[in-house]
Amino acid sequence: MNVLVINCGSSSLKYQLIDSVTEAVLAKGLCERITIDGSVLTHQPAGKDKVVIKQPMPDHKAAVKLVLEQLTDSANGVIESLSAIGAVGHRVVHGGEKFASSVLITDEVIKVIEECNELAPLHNPANLIGIRACQDCMEGVPMVAVFDTAFHQTMPKEAYLYGLPYEYYEKYKLRRYGFHGTSHSFVSKRTAELIGRKLSDSKIIVCHLGNGASICAVKNGKSVDTSMGLTPLEGLIMGTRSGDIDPAIMEFIAKKENMSIEEVVNVLNKQSGVAGLSKVSSDFRDIKNAADEGNELAYTTLKVYAYRVAKYIGAYAAAMNGVDAISFTAGVGENNGSVREMVCGYLGYLGIAIDDEKNKLRGEEVELSTADSKVKVMVVPTNEELAIARETVALV
Ligand code: ADP
Repeated sequence: MNVLVINCGSSSLKYQLIDSVTEAVLAKGLCERITIDGSVLTHQPAGKDKVVIKQPMPDHKAAVKLVLEQLTDSANGVIESLSAIGAVGHRVVHGGEKFASSVLITDEVIKVIEECNELAPLHNPANLIGIRACQDCMEGVPMVAVFDTAFHQTMPKEAYLYGLPYEYYEKYKLRRYGFHGTSHSFVSKRTAELIGRKLSDSKIIVCHLGNGASICAVKNGKSVDTSMGLTPLEGLIMGTRSGDIDPAIMEFIAKKENMSIEEVVNVLNKQSGVAGLSKVSSDFRDIKNAADEGNELAYTTLKVYAYRVAKYIGAYAAAMNGVDAISFTAGVGENNGSVREMVCGYLGYLGIAIDDEKNKLRGEEVELSTADSKVKVMVVPTNEELAIARETVALV
């Protein structure tokens, strides 16, 4: 079966068409500036040239239509007709406490996802727009929602409750949810396979280090703690997000800089992280280059970043009372050997040692740890689209 995987943002739509038998990507692409002037679709059919189409996309339905046209186009297409799409898998950011696994989308499910909107006001409404646009264009095709939060619904209370008045949890469901669940699930499963352990008898820490970054303690295949919280702002230092800070800093900045709470939160989300700290960029390649050229603040930024990751690894080794493997994934985790080296530099107490030559490799599955390391350290590239396609097939 061919599965169309959709990741819809407020003005963008990413897609992949995946053959679920061979797991090959038949085509992938991205619509940008939907609803804005200058809409553009970049379509990449496998084995053919990339196509860039500049055409107005006044709404998401127009974007979905254009994508479907390209997928079935005589020149740029990869399938004969829409009937070759057996199912659609949608990435949905927040499933609240309502969804502990992926679900087949029904009217009732859409209502429940809407109820989760206030927990992810920037993401969920856009995800729903994508679902509706696909339903309009592909009547009768089964659709599945795969939630970023679902994998973490196994966290115990001691991991998900904040030290706040309990009534906020009762009234507003204010708690830790965690994100990147599809990636943490995919990478932890693969890690167990690679280290030759049963998932049901394993302690794995997954470090998903991309623009957004989170870390997850996966015990016996279940998420028992994760660094992102009610929103994706908590935890590790990220490209532009601050991660953990003293909450009183919010009021301090608001007073000093004469800002509203919304404006401060915007600073924490968009102007902080390694971008704000280094004054260089949110991109780790730029920061690494600057550090190599002697920019001290850039080097300090990398240290601060790695130190935070190492502290979380320590916390999660404690949470699981041990760890069998630590896996690095996503853009930085898969490609940035210096960050991995800095992080592992703090982990000698766990008996961890890594092979410097293997650590130079990029973007491929590799065991970084030396033969005598007490804990395996791995690079396991994530593939959220494939994970969504697999979930979709399982439900359809
Ligand atoms: P997103 O959260 O947007 O999916 P990614 O997982 O793509 O983010 O990660 C983006 C980060 O990964 C950037 O900081 C970038 O520097 C880093 N990165 C991506 N590819 C490489 C590469 N080939 N070498 C070094 N760093 C890379």
